[in-house]
Amino acid sequence: MSEEDYNKDRLELALEAAGLDLWENDLVSGEVTRKALKTFAELGYNEKESFAFMEDMFSIVHPDDIPAIRAAINEHLTGATPQYRSEFRLLAKNGSWVWYANYGKIMKSNDAHHAKRFIGVSFNINDRKCREDELRLINLKLALQNEQLERMNIALQSLSTSDPLTRLPNRRLLLERLQQALVSRMRTGQAGALLFIDIDNFKTLNDTLGHDKGDLMLQQAAKRLESCVRESDTIARIGGDEFVVMLEHLSKAPLEAAAQTEAVGEKIRETLDQPYHLDSYEYHCSSSIGATLFNRDSQTVEELLKQTDIAMYQAKKAGRNALRFFDPQMQTAIDVRTSLEAGLRKAIDRNEFQLFYQIKVDGLFQPVGAEGLIRWIHPEHGLILPSQFIPLAEETGLIQPIGQWVLETACSQLKAWRENPLTRHLILSVNISAKQFRQTDFVGQVKAVLQRHAVNPGLLKLELTEGMLLDNVNDIVAAMKTLNEIGVRFSLDDFGKGYSSLQYLKQLPLDQLKIDRSFVRNLVDNNSDKAIVRTIIAMARSLNLDVIAEGVETEAQKNLLKKKGCEIFQGYLFGKPVPIEQFETLLTLV
Ligand code: C2E
Ligand code: MG
Ligand code: MG
Repeated sequence: MSEEDYNKDRLELALEAAGLDLWENDLVSGEVTRKALKTFAELGYNEKESFAFMEDMFSIVHPDDIPAIRAAINEHLTGATPQYRSEFRLLAKNGSWVWYANYGKIMKSNDAHHAKRFIGVSFNINDRKCREDELRLINLKLALQNEQLERMNIALQSLSTSDPLTRLPNRRLLLERLQQALVSRMRTGQAGALLFIDIDNFKTLNDTLGHDKGDLMLQQAAKRLESCVRESDTIARIGGDEFVVMLEHLSKAPLEAAAQTEAVGEKIRETLDQPYHLDSYEYHCSSSIGATLFNRDSQTVEELLKQTDIAMYQAKKAGRNALRFFDPQMQTAIDVRTSLEAGLRKAIDRNEFQLFYQIKVDGLFQPVGAEGLIRWIHPEHGLILPSQFIPLAEETGLIQPIGQWVLETACSQLKAWRENPLTRHLILSVNISAKQFRQTDFVGQVKAVLQRHAVNPGLLKLELTEGMLLDNVNDIVAAMKTLNEIGVRFSLDDFGKGYSSLQYLKQLPLDQLKIDRSFVRNLVDNNSDKAIVRTIIAMARSLNLDVIAEGVETEAQKNLLKKKGCEIFQGYLFGKPVPIEQFETLLTLV
């Protein structure tokens, strides 16, 4: 075997083993000098069907791949690339497309006929290409699925009603509930309120301790909010550090509803102001709260949210850690209330209360007793009447120490009166508010005060109102009986205004009914008031109680009352409530 044949065989062996198909073209004539017969065979063509010219090859190349092949050849021809490479599809005889790759080079040769040759190999890359296509398809499908999932997620989110971090209702549910609340308000007339709560400097927390600590803080804040409201109220998280609380079934009276809202708002503000334990960190964060009431028909959801937002910014402007009402009038009323409450808390210690005494007389104008009526002598505002601070004292629980003070003062006065024949027989009555009466061990307190001053319990009369008898009647009756057994007397104040039934009245160890001032006022001219007074007196007789009329201002009133059977009278006609010295002077005059 010649050296040339040997080399040729060696090359063929290598080509065969590598699955490569060698081709050669004469670049000058364009003639194919070695045909890629293996490739043609794979495609289903016989030797005769193979092409004699390079250019003819393009007739079975996929039209989309031709430009890339030409560009690759040109680049190599101009010397831009050291080799020619391309990938393309060839048309098989059965009509299918099969992927091939070419790898070639232009070579100069000494052969005078074929001075410039284009030599290369083809090889089948169909499997790889198919796999690549499959992969691409899979990736495409995955991308599509992801996109669908994403779209589904967005759809689900918009359907969901809770905030994933805190599990509180989200903005969507809040808007729904607010809409419902507005409708139900129109039906019941009870006001509602919205509180917009924004955590102060939340961004700083996120920036300094990281988002996971920020999330922890929000979760803790959500829990704290839940502890501040009733179960029927709604708490929602509507944004990063923004919460909204919706209160319902508040008072029909706007100022009272505002006061109720303020009480909850302040509780929230104080609760959120406590330090947070964020893993090993202790962090302090206050909040700014904007509030608005919904108590009118025309209010809309959007309007209310905007109002709370504005109010919340006012709270921020006021230095944060604050609560502000949208309505300036509400704000003023609340401010007055707040300072009143602060003053009231100090009033006892500062000895600012004074008990005034209003005389009670019998049909012969003879004094039989007095009613102790509290006055607050405010260092700046002067004399304040009980109607201006007793309701607040009741709401805040301050009525208990205040009521205690009244009892102490009354009993020490009774003790002092014991020394004087002019006063020794007088019965002193004091007003007891419902909250005070319901406090645990009210009975014990009264007994202790009586003992401390060693006064005859029969000289102390407690004035209760009908409203007190609306619930827990049994407890109240029991407490009254215990006190009655030691001699304490009871009068039912403002009688006729409430809803007492005879049934109730029969159960109570009462001593006296006190005809409300409103029936006395127009008694002389008003027939229905006359009828009411007559009925009350008849009722008292049948229950074996005495009757006192309050607010008696004229002789005509007094005469009419007396004619109808009233035995005791109280009113400006006999004396206004006055300080003890004046009261005692009055006694010497009658
Ligand atoms: P009340 O127990 O019905 O007291 C009678 C009120 O009528 C008193 O008002 C008295 O000043 C007023 N009054 C008496 N005679 C006349 C009159 O001829 N004409 C008019 N126009 N008014 C008359 P005041 O002192 O302002 O007390 C208002 C209410 O505040 C009391 O109503 C009572 O419910 C409450 N109150 C007063 N002192 C106390 C107290 O020490 N403890 C509690 N819990 N409540 C108190
Ligand atoms: Mg009274
Ligand atoms: Mg009264």
